[in-house]
Amino acid sequence: MEDNKVKDSEKLNYRPKRVKVIKKMIIAFMTVMILLPNIVSVYSLYRIEKVNKELLNMEQQIESLQTETKEVTPAVTESPSKEITEEKTVTKEELTDAERYPGKKLVYLTFDDGPSKYTDDILDILDEYNVKASFFVVAKDGYEDQYRRIVNDGHTLGMHSYTHVYSSIYESKTSFSLDITNISDFLYEITGEKPLFYRFPGGSSNQVSKVSKDDMFDILNAKKLIYYDWNVTSQDASGGKLSATQITDNVISGIEQKDMSVCLMHDSGEKASTVEALPMILSKLTSMDDVVILPITESTEPVHHITKQ
Ligand code: ZN
Repeated sequence: MEDNKVKDSEKLNYRPKRVKVIKKMIIAFMTVMILLPNIVSVYSLYRIEKVNKELLNMEQQIESLQTETKEVTPAVTESPSKEITEEKTVTKEELTDAERYPGKKLVYLTFDDGPSKYTDDILDILDEYNVKASFFVVAKDGYEDQYRRIVNDGHTLGMHSYTHVYSSIYESKTSFSLDITNISDFLYEITGEKPLFYRFPGGSSNQVSKVSKDDMFDILNAKKLIYYDWNVTSQDASGGKLSATQITDNVISGIEQKDMSVCLMHDSGEKASTVEALPMILSKLTSMDDVVILPITESTEPVHHITKQ
């Protein structure tokens, strides 16, 4: 019984303790429950503040970027002037030879009918005098190296027909056009470069063509080709064989009378005297201070015997 009493009293003693603990727990719980939202809201406020600051920073960055873009914009609008500068540069490159060498006598040495067994000799002599010339060639098998060397040495490779047979070239508009296509394709296949210049066999003033000159000029225009005749001749193709000295005199006296000379010579297996004359011609020309020897390019003023009416 007594034991039971003790136990009961212990129970009685114990009950308030438990209540106290529960009370403490409830208070603690309540405190946490009251404080937690505050803590959470304070933390949230802190986070919001931080995010706000970050947003503000980002806005400032965007603004500064926009300002930079605006600052860049005038530079972009300045680009036309840049283009003008570039255009000026292009214009400078597009100066004619005469504009590039004011007060000089311009000399263009041209060799027709090649290649031949003399082509390499002619190229060697030109090389020796560091002179660039123009070769108006026809199609010949076995001279691939010479066509290529003309281009690689920095000379101008022009066309002088595929066959050089006047009767078939000048037979009709079709034959004239086809002949040019053939020589152009022939040279392109060997050198990889499309020729830009043409010299009529017999010149633009030849009297053998059955095709009207205007039709031929139209065909050349359609093919974007420029033709060059000559205004000085070495007369190395004339019937009576001229000596090297006579050829030299013809060239020099012709050039002396002109500000711009396109000089006709021939690269032909029958024209040994031209090869013999060439060092004499170059020696004289290169010693003349007012003479500039150039290859024909798009900057060269065309010399025409006949032009489209
Ligand atoms: Zn010819």
